[in-house]
Amino acid sequence: MPQTRNLIDEYGKRTDGRTIDELRPIKINVGVVKNADGSAFIEFGKNKILAAVYGPREVHPKHMAQPDRCILRCRYHMSPFSTDTRKSPAPSRREIEISKVMRESLEPSLMLEDYPRAAIDVFVEVLQADGGSRCAGISAASVALADAGINMRDIVSACAAGKVDEKIVLDINDTEDKEGGADMPVAYMPRLDQITLLQLDGTLTPEQFNKCLDKAIEGCKMVYQIQKQALMQKYFGNELELKEEQ
Ligand code: ADP
Repeated sequence: MPQTRNLIDEYGKRTDGRTIDELRPIKINVGVVKNADGSAFIEFGKNKILAAVYGPREVHPKHMAQPDRCILRCRYHMSPFSTDTRKSPAPSRREIEISKVMRESLEPSLMLEDYPRAAIDVFVEVLQADGGSRCAGISAASVALADAGINMRDIVSACAAGKVDEKIVLDINDTEDKEGGADMPVAYMPRLDQITLLQLDGTLTPEQFNKCLDKAIEGCKMVYQIQKQALMQKYFGNELELKEEQ
């Protein structure tokens, strides 16, 4: 759908006051669900998302078990109170699609061959949504997988970029997602320099596509720093505070 009103003002500020290169504020807390093997809570702007990991554990039903590797199962779910209009608690087509792309974006980062015949379950529960919930959910899930001690090749960091008022902007919010020209969610493994998810909703010229992808990767690298800090805070929190005091 073509854009009907300007979303960037004369001072270069977006609907939420950010510049085109600015991420929303991000906060990650690790190990917030006691009964899970690993967990993380992410606040990505107004998005509030909980990720919990269970496993590696026995597979039920048993016929789903793979002799040479572990299976990864992901469930992305938006709670009924997460949006302005009540959302049905039953899984929608959108949630089924996001659960699938979430699994595909996390799988390359995990050494699933280390846990044959087992399963790892990842639950991503959106408590409040504000655009970009799949990216925030993937970033939280990857931190939760690290918290669960799963053998990993890299962390997966995710961030969207897009087109608003014919400009390429970082980290699309809900209004920009609905009214802007394009939304490109990207998941990326920063150490391996590999993309594990690339979706595009909208239209871009080949130049805009390249610029948008570069911007999304820049955003992923910023998210990566926050993921790393959150994990360090949980596992070396006291030592970090002592070092800062010295
Ligand atoms: P993402 O959250 O990854 O950007 P979408 O682009 O599909 O995924 O959705 C954009 C935003 O639209 C969501 O973050 C949410 O704020 C809103 N949204 C999605 N589904 C619903 C729904 N069923 N009811 C109301 N708002 C919704």
